[in-house]
Amino acid sequence: MEDSYKHKGLRRKLVESLRRKGIQDERVLSAMEVLPRHFFLDDAFAEWAYTDKPFQIGKGQTISQPFTVAYQTELLEVKKREKILEIGTGSGYQAAILAIMGARVFTVERHAQLHENAKKLLRHLKLGNIRCFHRDGFNGLPEFAPYAKILVTAGAAEVPQALLDQLEVGGMLVIPVGKKVQTMYRITRKGADDFQTEKFNTFRFVPFLKGLD
Ligand code: SAH
Repeated sequence: MEDSYKHKGLRRKLVESLRRKGIQDERVLSAMEVLPRHFFLDDAFAEWAYTDKPFQIGKGQTISQPFTVAYQTELLEVKKREKILEIGTGSGYQAAILAIMGARVFTVERHAQLHENAKKLLRHLKLGNIRCFHRDGFNGLPEFAPYAKILVTAGAAEVPQALLDQLEVGGMLVIPVGKKVQTMYRITRKGADDFQTEKFNTFRFVPFLKGLD
């Protein structure tokens, strides 16, 4: 895998466009400037890797649009060393961004093939601090709970109770909620039974599906 000057230049431009679209967290922007997104796409789309668009990654799934990745990551307020659970590994790109920002990442994917591909790629990139699991994210990943942050990258019709249960007090869950169109929710756990919900922009994600594939 090669990362050329041309790719680096395109990435710088992409990051500038994310800044213009309102992304302000410099740590998010610099992680996106460092990580070659074209490594996560089919060769057929490599040329388009630095346009602000989602792409097919196989099995009817997509790598999220860069703006969406930046938006969700900014809402998470990622801190070094904190434990983050991602639901929907997909290509592995979002997990890699979180790892570059210094988080300890746990990521689950329901699709066996996508899980295997992402695991191999992330190992090859030697980003460390990412553990991939073939699981139904509806149940979270209880054996490593609680998490400081949980990020869902598929559109959920409702908020899974298991994810709320696996948040530490003070922790935050970022999840797009809705059927056809999703509203971005950020749910903060203020106490054992005290959750505060903030609502943000609307997006279109691939659906959060129950069960393994
Ligand atoms: N974060 C990904 C974007 C993936 S798209 C990236 O950076 O590329 C959403 C992913 O969520 C898809 O791969 C889909 O298979 C997965 N998904 C959907 N429902 C799921 C569930 N219940 N558990 C785990 N993964 C799920």
